[in-house]
Amino acid sequence: MKGRNAIVTGSTSGIGLAIARALAGEGCNVMLNGLGDAGEIEAVRADLAAAAGTKIAYNGADVSRPAEVRALVAAACAELGPVDILVNNAGIQHVSALADFPDEQWDRLVAVNLSAAFHASKAVIGSMTERRFGRIVNIASVLGLVGAPHKAAYVATKHGLVGLTKSIAIEVAETGVTCNAVCPGMVMTPIIEMQVADQAKVTGLSPEDVVKEVFLQNQPIRRPVTAEEIAGAVVFLCSPAGSGVTGTTLAVDGGYVAR
Ligand code: NAD
Repeated sequence: MKGRNAIVTGSTSGIGLAIARALAGEGCNVMLNGLGDAGEIEAVRADLAAAAGTKIAYNGADVSRPAEVRALVAAACAELGPVDILVNNAGIQHVSALADFPDEQWDRLVAVNLSAAFHASKAVIGSMTERRFGRIVNIASVLGLVGAPHKAAYVATKHGLVGLTKSIAIEVAETGVTCNAVCPGMVMTPIIEMQVADQAKVTGLSPEDVVKEVFLQNQPIRRPVTAEEIAGAVVFLCSPAGSGVTGTTLAVDGGYVAR
């Protein structure tokens, strides 16, 4: 994987940052992306570059905007070279009963969780198939495989991402490009901390009980999965060992969907 050029969307925190760190640790050059404080992001970028000794760049595209997604890919090509690995990881959540679900939150989740992956994949696929190598990994969720209440947009977009993964995989299967989805179970990151707070409001449970009774109740290992465990799955799919794997969903979920 040494010298491969990777884009990881939403890599300024949580799972995306762990994926960027793991890919850089394997010798990849990485284009970071995500929202947040410019100073903190630059510190993360410099840290990663120093630790890995590879090129680590950053582009602040808002991936809900197709033109910015295209600019992100163009920036990666200009600063690192042709894109070998695309990890569509940026994702957001909104928790609300269906009857009250705000239309604008539906549109925003569709844009960030699903359409961004379509636009980014579309922007890299021509070069990948021409060069007869590419790895697209979509970070879906166990909620891309099963349903859950109060999460209509999240569940729908993550199922959509799994469908997009299968379609891309089959379309380019003979070109040396693979496309897979990783489906994390519960990982303690800022997105989950917000969900815990939202679920506490909806259910009337305390945040501690939401973690125990809602999230870990469904995760047989009875602990959160770590961001590094998700990153390990992404590294496998991008490595030579993963070259025969395409169109699949790899659940890294502590047994969530096995129940
Ligand atoms: P997080 O909130 O820590 O990170 C989300 C990242 O996406 C951040 O870097 C943020 O800046 C970025 N982002 C959000 N909106 C963006 C936008 N419009 N443009 C560019 N970047 C944007 O969350 P996380 O838990 O690390 O989630 C990463 C992915 O994993 C998401 O797709 C999420 O749905 C998925 N996932 C997480 C869990 C979990 O338990 N944490 C479980 C299943 C799936």
